Amino acid sequence: MTIAAFEGLLVRPGDAGYDSGRAVWNATVDRRPALIARCASTADVVSALRYGREAGLEIGVRGGGHSFLGLPVVEGGLLIDLSGLASVHVDPVSRRARVGGGALLGALDVGAQRYGLATTAGNVSHTGVGGLTLGGGVGWLARAYGLTCDNVASYELVTADGDVLRVSETEHPDLFWGLRGGGGSLGVVTAFEFRLHPVGTRALAVDLFYELEDAGTALRGWRDLFPEAPRQATPVARVGRRDEYGGRPMASIGYVWVGDVDEGRRLLASYQRVGKPVGQNVEELSYLDLQTWSDDAERHAIRRYCKGHYLRSLPDAAIEAFLAWGNDPLRPGARLTLNGGAVRDVPDADTAYSHRDALVEFTTGADWTDPAEDDAYIGAARTYAAGLEPYTSGTYVNTIADEDASAARRAYSPDKLTRLQELKRTYDPDNVFTRTSLPT
Ligand SMILES: Cc1cc2nc3c(=O)[nH]c(=O)nc-3n(C[C@H](O)[C@H](O)[C@H](O)COP(=O)(O)OP(=O)(O)OC[C@H]3O[C@@H](n4cnc5c(N)ncnc54)[C@H](O)[C@@H]3O)c2cc1C
Repeated sequence: MTIAAFEGLLVRPGDAGYDSGRAVWNATVDRRPALIARCASTADVVSALRYGREAGLEIGVRGGGHSFLGLPVVEGGLLIDLSGLASVHVDPVSRRARVGGGALLGALDVGAQRYGLATTAGNVSHTGVGGLTLGGGVGWLARAYGLTCDNVASYELVTADGDVLRVSETEHPDLFWGLRGGGGSLGVVTAFEFRLHPVGTRALAVDLFYELEDAGTALRGWRDLFPEAPRQATPVARVGRRDEYGGRPMASIGYVWVGDVDEGRRLLASYQRVGKPVGQNVEELSYLDLQTWSDDAERHAIRRYCKGHYLRSLPDAAIEAFLAWGNDPLRPGARLTLNGGAVRDVPDADTAYSHRDALVEFTTGADWTDPAEDDAYIGAARTYAAGLEPYTSGTYVNTIADEDASAARRAYSPDKLTRLQELKRTYDPDNVFTRTSLPT
């Protein structure tokens, strides 16, 4: 059996490119699809989908392949690979970008920055636009311009039946609601139309370092500055081992600023005043350098696990849990990032994304290389994250790294989850798109 009129590339077990085609960012994912269909067009997506359904294959859809669970890769199934739909067309006059469903964030950033434009995108340039946007999308511009999904004007969507729909505020508004944060369970997005903003090309990253035992006061002071933070600033605190401090666990407080760096520097004094840091990094860089800063640390082919929490407030006890390092040599690094700003301007009811009221997001990620150490590293990350669980209001669907439905239920409010499941029954009654974190 083959796919009718398919213009892209079909790769089967044993073919050249099969192993690279099934590999995703997280090296713990090692599944073997029966067929990889690397689509070259929307028509290819329709054909591949029809073929997969007729052949009774479970279907996964790959954007950038960065979901922690490796959702697109289906054992014995069909992997619809969108990496051939990666074009980015920027219109600087209308400030719009049309972006293929398999594009990576870096391509969007580079295309838009030619004109000093950008839209909210994640912090690592090799992440897929597809999965990130469909789950919500947070990044250094979120406080100024909203989530990535808040900046989508329209989607081109291939439904489970193979229909190609344009989805916008006025065309299929029910789907428009669900595609804004509901994940990839409603169809295949072959193109996104984004609104872009004149952000300039410069950025500033500020980190003030503290020994862990002295960091409590600084973290509390950093938190108390939240109400004063301009939208161009994203306050960040980190904890983790740092080579420049002999590999000791250190904490840092600071912020990332996008735009006029002189204006950004004016905030520095208030952050310096909250404690006595042992060192500082104040770095001016281009927006594109900021967006690729972590690319190498977050490279492919390493075993990974992640745990995230949203918190509606940051009490002292949560700060203590964030700093509680103990003697665990496997304890992973972590980050607290301020939410709010333009994310809260969008009424909660307008989108499937359910955490506009979060004050901060906590994320921790473990990385290692030896499969024999999987349980130890995953266990250490879970234990650490459990310390912040009493303060959490839920989780971001795009940080889910556990295969259980309870994790997904933390990603959506109960009413939004019900509405998403109803939407799914309408547009995908046979449950073709199973490879998402949405519990059905
Ligand atoms: C290194 C790294 C950095 C990250 N940084 C951020 C960050 O700064 N901000 C943030 O918000 N998130 C971030 N994330 C989380 C990221 O949003 C998710 O991992 C997201 O799932 C990645 O999307 P993807 O297309 O690369 O993944 P994939 O694994 O390809 O897809 C994830 C899900 O989306 C579906 N999907 C993907 N594309 C489409 C499409 N076009 N149409 C329909 N369904 C589709 C897939 O079927 C799957 O269910 C990061 C993740 C990593 C690994």
